[in-house]
Amino acid sequence: MKFLCIDCDAQMTFEERQQPGDGTFAASFTCPTCGRRVAMLANPMETQLVSTLGVEIGGRTLDEQPLEFTRANMQGRDDAFAEDPERTPRSPRPVWSSDAEARLAKVPSFVRGMVKKIYSDYARERSIAEITPALMDRAREELGLEGM
Ligand SMILES: [Zn+2]
Repeated sequence: MKFLCIDCDAQMTFEERQQPGDGTFAASFTCPTCGRRVAMLANPMETQLVSTLGVEIGGRTLDEQPLEFTRANMQGRDDAFAEDPERTPRSPRPVWSSDAEARLAKVPSFVRGMVKKIYSDYARERSIAEITPALMDRAREELGLEGM
């Protein structure tokens, strides 16, 4: 916080500061050119405000880096999307035979989506158009997915 002497357009120098202990805050400043003095008196609430402002300004300066870090991360993610399977041209989504569907239905629902994706990916990577129980067995064996 700075005080300027309007007449001299000079920054007043800090002269004295008092904190009587009741939460108020008093400070006096002197103009180095004309010698004019001003005093600032803040009530407890204002004193609190000044303290808080100081903390916030400091905090904001410190926050700059994490924000930029986040932005950089998001840009990095964009690059990562280039390898996203959905964007990479691949074989069409395989169909599930009714036998395979029935078998998938026995998988606990909370992992079914994941299991379905594993088999689908397995089939797509090998350009297999239909997922059958036989293929599921093969995938399980190859991927080491016992119990799926
Ligand atoms: Zn002055």
